[in-house]
Amino acid sequence: MLQTRSGKRTGVAALRMAVEMVEEGLIDKRTALIRVDPESIPSMLAPVFDLDEKKKAVKEKRYLTKGLNAGPGAASGKVVFDSWNAQHKKIKGEKTILVRMETSPEDIAGMEAAEGILTARGGMTSHAAVVARGMNKPCVVGCSALHVEERSQFMAVATEDGRSVIVREGDFISIDGTTGEVLLGSLQTKPSEIQQVLDGVIPGDDSQIAKNFTKFMGWTDEVRTLQIRTNADTPRDSRIARIFGAQGIGLCRTEHMFFEGERISVMQEMILADTVEAREKALAKLLPYQREDFIGIFEAMEGLPVTIRLLDPPLHEFVPHDEGHMGELAQKSGIDLDKIRIRIEALKEQNPMLGHRGCRLGVTYPEITRMQVRAIIEAAVAVKKKGKSVYPEIMVPLVGHIKEFVHQKEIIEATAQTVMREANTRVDFTIGTMIEVPRAALVADQIAVEAKFFSFGTNDLTQMGMGFSRDDADKFLRDYLRLGFYERNPFQSIDQEGVGELVKIAIEKGRKTRPDIKLGVCGEHGGDPTSIMFFHKIGLQYVSCSPFRVAVARAAAARAVLLG
Ligand code: PEP
Ligand code: MG
Repeated sequence: MLQTRSGKRTGVAALRMAVEMVEEGLIDKRTALIRVDPESIPSMLAPVFDLDEKKKAVKEKRYLTKGLNAGPGAASGKVVFDSWNAQHKKIKGEKTILVRMETSPEDIAGMEAAEGILTARGGMTSHAAVVARGMNKPCVVGCSALHVEERSQFMAVATEDGRSVIVREGDFISIDGTTGEVLLGSLQTKPSEIQQVLDGVIPGDDSQIAKNFTKFMGWTDEVRTLQIRTNADTPRDSRIARIFGAQGIGLCRTEHMFFEGERISVMQEMILADTVEAREKALAKLLPYQREDFIGIFEAMEGLPVTIRLLDPPLHEFVPHDEGHMGELAQKSGIDLDKIRIRIEALKEQNPMLGHRGCRLGVTYPEITRMQVRAIIEAAVAVKKKGKSVYPEIMVPLVGHIKEFVHQKEIIEATAQTVMREANTRVDFTIGTMIEVPRAALVADQIAVEAKFFSFGTNDLTQMGMGFSRDDADKFLRDYLRLGFYERNPFQSIDQEGVGELVKIAIEKGRKTRPDIKLGVCGEHGGDPTSIMFFHKIGLQYVSCSPFRVAVARAAAARAVLLG
């Protein structure tokens, strides 16, 4: 034998070979677990383009450009440039691709309605990327060759071969979130075979791929020591995550619940209120919505822990910024338009990610914390009364100083006690914090005296630890990666020697004052195999990732044991 090379194989082929070799007694399960790259799992689950159609599109010069492959899967549809249009077209039964410069929480409903999302700006943890992965939508971000004119409803694409192509609202495009490619025209897509089995379209016994997948995933669970949770904020996502093997929710971002239907109007009413009484009146209207959502989530996650984070984003993300929408809001709410303009102007910040957000909101507006905690505990009581077990973990975001945490903890405890007294029922719950501000990592020993758990918010910890904006860093990060300053995008794979060191410090300090502190990670790194290896090594107990990365994380956690 002169030379050997690993045979190139697709994810599905690697899986089949590994499983069949175990069955034939050629290798053991542990070897099989190392032979399948966890990163190949999303492509096994994601919808795909017909390969011949894709080749044809390239031949016909319909290949437009390539961006960052932020959410795997293939999607085709009519281009829309705003969220409303995506929703409107969905009602008419039309498929769309939502194209934006970048997305914000205002776009959630449109992202949900669209088949896929394409943005000109943003990196792997930009809003579009995080939300799309959470929704399992194909998504391409940071496509700098796009010049998007949202108001005029067109985009100009500078293609790699030097052409400038204009794409207007209503034109068909196709995006491949597995590769980052963007093509003109509509390409045929189909769901993966495993997905069809999970959806019950194909019986499990009829699919060899699905059988191999289930077997392989079972082996990962025999080996791994890290628990795998999910980031989910709807009962539907919670159910999906459970199907993929999630062992609880590591992050429920409650703000996502405020955008649906008429909730956003009530949220806006709360934000625009200028007295505590008026704010409490609006919050009272939001309470039943939150309670119902939590009931659904607790039921879907019955018997498993659910970490619910209190409101985090800056309030300006919930209000309109253009005259038209402000006018609509004035009409709907009966509030004077000038007053709305002034309030919205006052909410603007130069650096919103470093501004009035996280627990800082709860400190200024304790009534928001009170409403959210009431909703959580009332929901837990309701589910418990049905004979189901619930384990809520209430999480305070963006803590940097112990006093911020204590301030919120006192409100949480007092509210929970009141609700439990009213209901004459006790529920076990814990209170902990995110560690996402570098200062919190450095004073983790103080915080751990009060906090029962730490969940590392490595998105913000990377942003604040490295001083790189989550939304804008891609501009220079490309150069940094090309020049080899960093091996991988630090928002995708944790910067082990810098940000990772902050995590290590916090673990060590936290354990000093609370040896049994529960430790996990809920930033996007929780779904990245290389970061998972690191988190396993430094002693975290769980990682939490989007429902569709749970299988990746299970495989990566098993590998971490075998290769660690
Ligand atoms: C984080 O910062 O890592 C985190 C999970 O919170 P968010 O992404 O919502 O800021
Ligand atoms: Mg954060």
